[in-house]
Amino acid sequence: MQSYQEMTKEELCKEKESLEAAYKEWQKRGLSLNMARGKPSEEQLDLTMPMMDVLNSSADLHSEDGTDCRNYGGMDGIPEAKRFMAGMMGVNPENVLVYGNASLNIMYDTVSRSMTHGVMGSTPWCKLDKVKFLCPVPGYDRHFKVTEFFGIEMINIPMTAEGPDMDLVEQYVSEDAAVKGIWCVPKYSNPQGISYSDEVVKRFAALKPAAEDFRIFWDNAYVVHHLYEDDQDEILDILSECEKAGNPDMVYEFCSTSKISFAGGGVAALAASKANLEFIKKQFTVQTIGYDKVNQLRHVRYFKDMDGVKKQMMKQAAIMRPKFEMVEKVLSEELGGLEIGSWINPKGGYFICFESLEGCAKSIVAKAKEAGVTLTGAGAPFPYGKDPKDSVIRIAPSFPTMEDLKMAAEIFVVCVKLASVEKLLE
Ligand code: PLP
Repeated sequence: MQSYQEMTKEELCKEKESLEAAYKEWQKRGLSLNMARGKPSEEQLDLTMPMMDVLNSSADLHSEDGTDCRNYGGMDGIPEAKRFMAGMMGVNPENVLVYGNASLNIMYDTVSRSMTHGVMGSTPWCKLDKVKFLCPVPGYDRHFKVTEFFGIEMINIPMTAEGPDMDLVEQYVSEDAAVKGIWCVPKYSNPQGISYSDEVVKRFAALKPAAEDFRIFWDNAYVVHHLYEDDQDEILDILSECEKAGNPDMVYEFCSTSKISFAGGGVAALAASKANLEFIKKQFTVQTIGYDKVNQLRHVRYFKDMDGVKKQMMKQAAIMRPKFEMVEKVLSEELGGLEIGSWINPKGGYFICFESLEGCAKSIVAKAKEAGVTLTGAGAPFPYGKDPKDSVIRIAPSFPTMEDLKMAAEIFVVCVKLASVEKLLE
């Protein structure tokens, strides 16, 4: 295929005409498709339905330490749930607090507590003139919404193929005491599907922060979310790396079963050093008389252990993988060689991240919308919704049916081509 970059003006004009005709054909069909929703499909959710049969009216609802899960108490999670969530994160159960149904809620809570009550005795962040967070970009929009909500200044850190640009991270963290945190999705990152290399994890663990209350917010949301059985990423355990590097208190790790069992109906947990947990528990005991232990029990009785989770995730992968591969095929067949965009074929997670020519993302998203395809808003994967290059688009293949996804991907590539030709003709 001839690269658009090499086409003459006349050739580009001709290409534009035929693309406009193809675009109009799609528009005429009046479709309503969606590639914006990063959530499990119904078929994936159905996989977990047998979990609903695990507990019935004759089930013994006592946990292994005799706690009656129907009653208050068991503040930091029943022992089997702590062990289960610890197994998922690869940490010691003693370092785990089991919360409610969603990890984003724990992250919000963690930032909120730091604002009002500080971190293990430090000045509450709300009393400081300036609080800053580092934000590897592109990243998860809801992380950025949390820090924006609390008026925390966000600083973009470019992602590399191995994780965030660590030279920049080290520089900011060691030189600026106003930098109190960094958002990380270390495995199959949202939206690029990048997993942090061992070197990156070790450099994180060895940071020398100017602020004693600096924390790494390690959101391991996609810890077991592989797309392939024989080609999986694994990352180092940040808690033990921090301990080895003499920084045991520098990290909070978050995870949940949202995209393992039911999204929004799962179990979420936090892992951190014992000193952090002691401080957090002071708030914990004011905040609640206990989270949903029945759901914790239901999850552990159903999945049993990490083997159970792995089996479930391979069933999920069998549904997800063809969708990812289909979108990747359309992208490479239609855009390969044109030099108007690039993308990563991830080995896990929930997204494909497309990077267009500079200044085209908004136009592509708008064109897709007018042809009946909803995409995640351009700019969403950046703090304040501002993509400095206007080039990143997050594609979420999980929710639509294969049929809908195929049409959506075909419309997407027409929009990419059209927006690119228009840009090149400017
Ligand atoms: N973290 C990341 C990186 C995500 O992509 C998502 C959901 O898309 C979440 C957290 C939300 O997790 P939860 O449902 O546990 O709040």
